[in-house]
Amino acid sequence: MPPLRPGDEAEVRLDLTLRPQAFGDFVGQRKVVEKLHVFVEAALQRGETLDHVLLAGLPGLGKTTLAHLIATRLGAELRATSGPMIERSGDLAGILTSLKRGDVLFIDEIHRLPAAVEEYLYSAMEDYKIQIVIDQGVHARTVELSLQRFTLIGATTREGLLTSPFRARFGIFERLDPYDVADLSTIVLRSAALLGVEIVPDAAQMIARRSRGTPRVANRYLARLRDVAQVRAGNRISAKGAVEGFALLEVDEAGLETLHRRILGALVGAGGQPVGLKTLAVSVGEEEETIEVVYEPYLIQEGFIQKTPRGRKATEKAFLHLGIDPRSAQAQLF
Ligand code: ADP
Repeated sequence: MPPLRPGDEAEVRLDLTLRPQAFGDFVGQRKVVEKLHVFVEAALQRGETLDHVLLAGLPGLGKTTLAHLIATRLGAELRATSGPMIERSGDLAGILTSLKRGDVLFIDEIHRLPAAVEEYLYSAMEDYKIQIVIDQGVHARTVELSLQRFTLIGATTREGLLTSPFRARFGIFERLDPYDVADLSTIVLRSAALLGVEIVPDAAQMIARRSRGTPRVANRYLARLRDVAQVRAGNRISAKGAVEGFALLEVDEAGLETLHRRILGALVGAGGQPVGLKTLAVSVGEEEETIEVVYEPYLIQEGFIQKTPRGRKATEKAFLHLGIDPRSAQAQLF
């Protein structure tokens, strides 16, 4: 199966089809949802705009979904953009001046905004004012423009990369954690109903267990197993069908895909000695950031690899997962 790439066209379509449309459909993350719900209701009752919101968490955990749910509940329009799409403050000025009172500006991957753009946002977020330069050359002058009060919702997979002055400007900050198997099962069953495919509870559980705590991954596996079921089993995902489907997708019992196993293979191949991120990226043929954000968190969380000051190293669990005796491999090295 090709690596998970957020923004991939088929995946975007699937996300849209399966995205919960109301707070009540959003499974799990109870505390976060409860808080956001209260803040939104309070703003509505006071007739005020909602404070700026920062949502942090790994890809596919529901940040974009929550941003849409908030906007819908507020009865506001949502304008979506992302950090890498805004190169200059001029790009942002155009968007900011077009916002109406109460609109939601959603900036995905907000940690990737260039520093100058981030600073430009400060006055927009705090005072709802921006400076723009008009005219050119000797006639150039700066004028201040007032903006409508809006709500910025930022999403980030790398909250550690945000500067503290930026972070401090968000009144609401929530972090999404990976989902447990029970919540993921519920999501799979809900998605199966939306996709019109029958699935037995054991198969839903199996998808939940292999989805690495991530709803987007669960939905993606469901969609692929549906393909298999459609061709081979009359549109019904049975427990046996799920096992066969996962074998076809090359997703193992621990929920690891080919690239996870390649990463483990590279680290195990180094005999459990630390390997730098750059070297690792080259040896598995993937970008450093993708390894750090998409693949590594789960491998660390599940104790397959350890991050040390000198790089990543394979744990005993990694050796065993690949069917290699850790002592024999280390013995080979020395
Ligand atoms: P992120 O913005 O964090 O990368 P998304 O909000 O795009 O993640 O979520 C990816 C997909 O996963 C959504 O389209 C939705 O179908 C599903 N999803 C995420 N969180 C939930 C949830 N709590 N309940 C149900 N579905 C969810």
